[in-house]
Amino acid sequence: MAEIQDIIHKLCDTGSLTREEIIRLLENRDSETQALLAEKASAVAREHYGNKVFVRGLIEFTNYCKNDCYYCGIRCGNKNAERYRLSVEEITECASYGYGLGFRTIVLQGGEDRFYTDDMMVDIIKSIKKEHPDVAVTLSIGEKSFESYKAFFDAGADRYLLRHETADFDHYAKLHPKNLSAENRQQCLYNLKKIGFQTGAGFMVGSPYQTFENIADDLLFLKKLDPEMIGIGPFIPHKDTVFADEKAGDLNLTLFLLSVIRLMLPTVLLPATTALGTIDPRGRELGILAGANVVMPNLSPVGVRKKYALYDNKICTGEEAAECMNCLKNRIGNIGYEIVTDRGDNIKYKSMKEGK
Ligand code: SAH
Repeated sequence: MAEIQDIIHKLCDTGSLTREEIIRLLENRDSETQALLAEKASAVAREHYGNKVFVRGLIEFTNYCKNDCYYCGIRCGNKNAERYRLSVEEITECASYGYGLGFRTIVLQGGEDRFYTDDMMVDIIKSIKKEHPDVAVTLSIGEKSFESYKAFFDAGADRYLLRHETADFDHYAKLHPKNLSAENRQQCLYNLKKIGFQTGAGFMVGSPYQTFENIADDLLFLKKLDPEMIGIGPFIPHKDTVFADEKAGDLNLTLFLLSVIRLMLPTVLLPATTALGTIDPRGRELGILAGANVVMPNLSPVGVRKKYALYDNKICTGEEAAECMNCLKNRIGNIGYEIVTDRGDNIKYKSMKEGK
């Protein structure tokens, strides 16, 4: 069996590990290896993206959802959730407000809400792109047909976030009701890539029943899919879900995995998530120092922010978008990085598109 040092060298040199090597690395994780991996990973991020941190303005436009994912606070079975929807005008106004603050990526995220037909989504995408041609539009609205995804792409959407949640089919079934399958979710990701989206996958760290074997399979799935973006953050319980009494995911394991992911997929766009900032006041800064290079401040109207509660105690739900931006600028500046307001495309994707 290879020594930990050999595994780390292999990871840094080749970006590839076997399932057994990943499991061994996780089992032998300590503060020293974590620090070493963070140093290597942040150096790789800097090599590709300098000390730039990209910002994405996140508009949480609906908390209605037809799905009943056991971990999520806006699951349809949560009768205590106070539901809201933003109108097409509210969404585009919010995007324009974000543009004024310097955002050049707008992320439209929501529950799977049938109220918004494909035609409405197409209208929203087109009107944002028409008003602000230099803005990248990212969608995060769940599982749809190939045709729907294609219509969004043809309307001008640039990127799509759809975490695979867990690559293991049995684990997936423990986190979701029967009508949802890992197979369909993964197929959606391949469809998104085929259509040409910059595609984002990812998973929660420390979700109930998750094992190191599951995490190894998640990392191998990501390596195979080769997405342009990867979102990982700690699982955090929500009081009105099946998993209300489960433990939250671990800060250090999340940071460790951010570093491993950066080393496995060097050019990937990797956010230091709000969930990470929620379990630790310095979570997002630590995420950047571990190899992340994106932050996604909340751009939703203040009046609805508290209602988009995927988990308990979410941060930044009382502040105006402008305050969020200033706060993040300071935080990121204090650790020697700089928030930049360009589109922040994946560089590998960009050079491929430009035929380089
Ligand atoms: N409906 C969209 C958006 C889902 S919300 C979709 O299906 O993709 C975005 C992500 O938040 C989810 O993919 C999930 O990984 C994460 N999330 C949901 N509940 C959470 C919780 N309790 N703790 C941490 N992350 C959670």
